[in-house]
Amino acid sequence: MKSGWVDRDAEAIVAEGAKVGVDRDLSLRVYTTRLLGRDPKLVLHSGGNTSLKTRMRDLFGEEVDVLRVKSTGADMANIEASGLPAVRLLPMRKLRTLDAIEDDELVSIERANLIDPAAPNPSVEMMLHTFLPHKFIDHTHATAILSVIDQPHGKKLCEEIFGGRLAFVPYLRPGFGLAKKAVAVFETMPACEGLILSKHGIVTFGDNAREAYDRMIGLVSLAEEFIARDRKSLAVRALAKAPERAADKPAMMAARIAPIVRGACSEKHDTIEGAWRRLVIEFRASDPVLNFVNRGDLERISKAGVITPDHTIRTKNWPLVLTSPTPDRLADFAGQARERSHAFTKHYRQYFARNNQRVGGKVIALDPLPRVALVPGLGLFGLGRSKADAIIAADIAEAWVEGVTNADAIGTFESISEADMFDCEYWPLEQAKLGKRKELPFAGQIAAITGGAGAIGAATAKAFAAAGAEVALLDLDRAAAREEANAVGGHALAVTCDVTDAGSVSAAFDKIAEHFGGVDIVVSNAGAAWQGRIGEVDEEILEKSFALNFYGHQRVAQAAVRIMCAQGTGGCLLFNISKQAVNPGPNFGPYGIPKAAALALMRQYALDYGADGIRANAVNADRIRSGLLTPDMIASRSKARGLGEKDYMSGNLLGREVTAEDVAQAFLNHALALKTTADVTTVDGGNIAAAMR
Ligand SMILES: [Zn+2]
Repeated sequence: MKSGWVDRDAEAIVAEGAKVGVDRDLSLRVYTTRLLGRDPKLVLHSGGNTSLKTRMRDLFGEEVDVLRVKSTGADMANIEASGLPAVRLLPMRKLRTLDAIEDDELVSIERANLIDPAAPNPSVEMMLHTFLPHKFIDHTHATAILSVIDQPHGKKLCEEIFGGRLAFVPYLRPGFGLAKKAVAVFETMPACEGLILSKHGIVTFGDNAREAYDRMIGLVSLAEEFIARDRKSLAVRALAKAPERAADKPAMMAARIAPIVRGACSEKHDTIEGAWRRLVIEFRASDPVLNFVNRGDLERISKAGVITPDHTIRTKNWPLVLTSPTPDRLADFAGQARERSHAFTKHYRQYFARNNQRVGGKVIALDPLPRVALVPGLGLFGLGRSKADAIIAADIAEAWVEGVTNADAIGTFESISEADMFDCEYWPLEQAKLGKRKELPFAGQIAAITGGAGAIGAATAKAFAAAGAEVALLDLDRAAAREEANAVGGHALAVTCDVTDAGSVSAAFDKIAEHFGGVDIVVSNAGAAWQGRIGEVDEEILEKSFALNFYGHQRVAQAAVRIMCAQGTGGCLLFNISKQAVNPGPNFGPYGIPKAAALALMRQYALDYGADGIRANAVNADRIRSGLLTPDMIASRSKARGLGEKDYMSGNLLGREVTAEDVAQAFLNHALALKTTADVTTVDGGNIAAAMR
């Protein structure tokens, strides 16, 4: 492991800080905190924390001793000085005389001693930083350290590797008790450079930022070197014969397997009929992951537990282990996946009940669905209520794979006990790291929108993303789709798709399935208008319009129901049909007739797939500013009718102009209406001739 320290960068941060009144110590504290946070082998997703003991003026202008410590859940990689709230040190240190303290009481005392009353809560490991005397303290969950200490003889190994440079603190749940124990152990070895927190991580100290940081890098490197030197090669189960080996084309297989895994790892809502709790997926298939999922003892090792306690809040304590899929027997794989996922959730509920009883029945169960799925021959899936959470689960699962692999290479991996894992998973302060996030209505759902770069498509993508869905914007014009996806933000995906080409549609949906794990809502929106008096129009024009305005919808719906059926959790097909479908305009036959066929198509899907829980609905919109109704067209049409543009655009019963956002809202409402199918919603400000009858 290399040191990331660069004098020039350190001095640049110090100079930058000086301009806004941040002193040298605090600037360097920020600098090395970022260095630690940017190395995934040291710190992953808000794990780890750092502190500085210094002096500052409080709100009354008095100089006081403070502890500046990382706030809970903050990301070390991008931390600013404000992410290290200051707490009065002396009153906090007095707490050491207590035997124990309730979590909420401790948080109240911490908050009461914040210099800035509006600062975020300090790290859950703050008391460890408080009780230890050192000026700079760094704490990480370095993967190499975990491989060494997650062992039955971890203490002995540490003595061998670190030779008395680190004091060894036996496992205790992070918090007040561990902080008291850690300082007591330190006092027996006051010359040590840091601490090993058994089955949890490493702490290093220093008089300055560089010393604490260099010690962290040096000591973790010792663990890495030990692992490299002492590893024994692991027997890897022989892979299936080449043609059957799923991992030969991991992305393609992942696209077919992901919807099955995703469906298996969903559950019906307790009370709302037709609603599901779904997860989004992140797929990984690196060589270490493949070696791991192909281990002959995968079943056993998958029950061994996490490598450090705070991972339980992201991955649960165990992954779901699935069977190895073969392309021509996916139905068998799906059956086994559902069975195994069911067994997983049953086991999780029993684990919860057992441990909740132990702690007096006072905690509320989290959902029992797996957050990591291992698939022999293929790779691993991280699962989460959003793409961001799925990525975090996958990152932590990869660190777990590495940590366990290396632990087994030098000994035998051993985690904390089930009771200890439960106490971490349900520790209110750990749960608080996830924040009090209010779940949005489409959390865990994936929406694909064709014509995603157009006015209605882009507005629809924004509306679904704002309501919690992950969105894929499909468009012929990839650059434009990319631009709109960027405007949506988050993990919005841009996919090139020509809906007049079956291969292109199928590839686009594979891409969505590989990226997000499947699809739940499809807004089939791509379209274009052709005109011509029906008795005279070229057949070629009609065919072109049918290829896009009818077959385009059919291809998209067909690709979507294939995935929805693999998931087995229903779904929602939404079609953009024009008012032309119900109220044809003169010389608009080439456009209106395929749109009328698309209306029939929607009803056919509602009929044929209702039993699968797949709903099909349409929006009949009119006179929206878009690629089909450009500013030039608005100018010429309003002029032809002797109207101003505004009067033309709001020429309806309500006298209100209809916007792309209004259409997006109608799609959203359809997706929410779990008991509505084969319905058409009119969004045109009122046009009796176009009203459904
Ligand atoms: Zn920790």
